[in-house]
Amino acid sequence: MIEDKNQQRTPLSSLGEFGLIDHLTKNFKITHDSTLKGIGDDAAVMKFDKEVVLTTDLLVENVHFDLSYMPLKHLGYKAVMVNLSDVYAMNAMASQITVSIAVSNRFPLEALEELYAGIETAAQIYGVDVVGGDTTSSTSGLLISITALGEAKKEDIVYRSGAKPNDLLVVTGDLGGAYMGLQVLEREKEVFKVNPNNQPDLDTYTYIVERQLKPEARKDIVQLLKDLEVKPTAMIDISDGLSSEIMHLCKHSKVGCDLYENKIPLDPQVISTCEEFNIDSTTIALNGGEDYELLMTISQDDYPKIKANPNLTVIGYMTEENAGMHLVTRAEEKIPLKAQGWNSLSESE
Ligand code: ADP
Ligand code: MG
Repeated sequence: MIEDKNQQRTPLSSLGEFGLIDHLTKNFKITHDSTLKGIGDDAAVMKFDKEVVLTTDLLVENVHFDLSYMPLKHLGYKAVMVNLSDVYAMNAMASQITVSIAVSNRFPLEALEELYAGIETAAQIYGVDVVGGDTTSSTSGLLISITALGEAKKEDIVYRSGAKPNDLLVVTGDLGGAYMGLQVLEREKEVFKVNPNNQPDLDTYTYIVERQLKPEARKDIVQLLKDLEVKPTAMIDISDGLSSEIMHLCKHSKVGCDLYENKIPLDPQVISTCEEFNIDSTTIALNGGEDYELLMTISQDDYPKIKANPNLTVIGYMTEENAGMHLVTRAEEKIPLKAQGWNSLSESE
């Protein structure tokens, strides 16, 4: 990362723990009736009329993110998205989050201000209240853990386990962008190491770089499904790649599936960047990860309601469990679906 030499660097120790918490959280506003008490007491107090969903994620520097190309503002935003995506994958609406951080003294106050600016933007856009957290020190690097709360009517909640044979397999958006964006950023990082004066030209990669650095959780899809009066039979968010998420759905629902290679939605920028990197775009869509799209199964009866919608693509259908999980290739060959996963893919390179 290019460090601005003129930038102010206020040591965290100069504020003290409580001063720091007050400073970082002073802008957070409570917007939900379900939040009775937010930041400032020993615990936050919520009042829910509906079912409550709860999810948490832990992000560790140099495991889940690399600050040499991830601006802290984006990291804050993305950390919130990762959690909200899990709430939406339950077909629920997110309402509150808590944010916990462990931070080493290598970070000045200004760095945490950036992180919290991203968190605040995400909370505002997605309409969630930041109701608490914890702040502590770390001997190396940054850890950020977010917990999200959401609510839904009991009958609206969608689990991974409800898919039935003949249900359609449907995905939102397009796949593989986040992974290819990461490849571009990794490449630029190497170039920068060799020649720090070489400013990266990312103009041709704006979409995929944004998919990596600033993903959006699909809150809009939860609303869309309501509007279309479609309740998926099963749903999961795509954090680890299409393959592994399909396998989760199949396993929890005790069904098999046929996934059609030629139906997998890919952005033109993903296709062209895959060509440039000489990687197969299907492999990337299947194993890339971090796309934060939603993968769902819906009853065939609901097909007329979704068929014209540009946000939803039918990519296959579910089968009996003993039929197994398959990818039907463009050559109409049927091959067993494998989950390489995001981590193993990046390790193998
Ligand atoms: P305690 O010692 O009881 O855990 P803290 O002093 O850690 O309380 O926190 C005081 C208040 O500030 C609590 O409401 C807590 O949830 C909130 N808080 C602490 N750290 C953060 C943070 N990083 N982000 C948001 N809220 C925080
Ligand atoms: Mg605490």
